Amino acid sequence: MPKSQFVDFKAVKTALTMEQILEHYQLLHQFKRSGDSLNGPCPIHKGSSPTQFRISISKNIWHCFSECKHGGNTLDFIAKMENISIHAAALKAIEWFQLDPETMAATSQKAQEASSEADESDSAPVAKPAAKKTAVAQEKNTTPNPPLKFRLDKLERSHPYLAERGLTQETIMDFGIGYCAKGMMAERIAIPIHNVDGKVVAYAGRFPGTPTDDAPKYKLPQGFKKSLELFNIDRAIKEPADQPLVIVEGFFDAMKLRQHGCRKVIALMGSTMSAAQEELIRTHTNSQSQIIIVLDEDEAGRAGREDIAVRLSQITFVKVHVFGKEGEQPDNLTPEQIGQLKEGVL
Ligand SMILES: [Zn+2]
Repeated sequence: MPKSQFVDFKAVKTALTMEQILEHYQLLHQFKRSGDSLNGPCPIHKGSSPTQFRISISKNIWHCFSECKHGGNTLDFIAKMENISIHAAALKAIEWFQLDPETMAATSQKAQEASSEADESDSAPVAKPAAKKTAVAQEKNTTPNPPLKFRLDKLERSHPYLAERGLTQETIMDFGIGYCAKGMMAERIAIPIHNVDGKVVAYAGRFPGTPTDDAPKYKLPQGFKKSLELFNIDRAIKEPADQPLVIVEGFFDAMKLRQHGCRKVIALMGSTMSAAQEELIRTHTNSQSQIIIVLDEDEAGRAGREDIAVRLSQITFVKVHVFGKEGEQPDNLTPEQIGQLKEGVL
């Protein structure tokens, strides 16, 4: 599981209700509501008394008054049901309920430490503030990002930061990026994100340099669900089928690779692959396709690529690129190396 070290248990456990979990296990029908409690037979020791297992709806906790003689929160319940650790239970919950760990992580202090660490890699845009995920919110979470009805104009294409990152004028125009003097991405490099149909659904804002104070390196619009998009997917899918699809973490990785001829490249906008992103890749891949995963050589990148490789290898042939040096990222590859990467010989 990617970024498993950053899993914020508190956020995961409060994002779910005991009712949702019982529903997941198809047990909810066995439970009766009485005031603030839900009572039923204990699913853990598989008891039969209809009152032995009680849930406090408001507190979102459970207790077995019979054999188990203990209780706990939502994660404790999953852990007991699956006979796994709390950590593993949190990962299961994320998978089952399609929680966005990055979004949730943004709430916790622990995650802030983590994200400042992840920030170094320049690959993980900062998540939007976490919202408590109800069933409704989850549904909303899979509603497509609507195409924007406006464009940021007057973007400054010749901002020195772009040259500093090694981007040519051609690439800058190709991706439509530029420095935004005012407006929603004021004083940032605005990077349009297109959906698979080529419609702009958001602008990401990259701070042009090292952010001062606690300004995030990346800014994303409120409500934008990056887990539903893959940067550059709209163009990558138009590249020849016999070319490998290269998966990277960040915007600049993708832009740099495309600049040097590795045009069939997509960025996850982070080091994890969401279920929706997996589905997008699956839709545009067949058993003859080749995929090359080139995530950053750091802890999050390694965890991410392992998980992604396992998942995508169920669809097609997957190659994982391992850098020789800690901290390396595709953005730093030389044009020659990018050529080799594309040919699968790096
Ligand atoms: Zn019990």
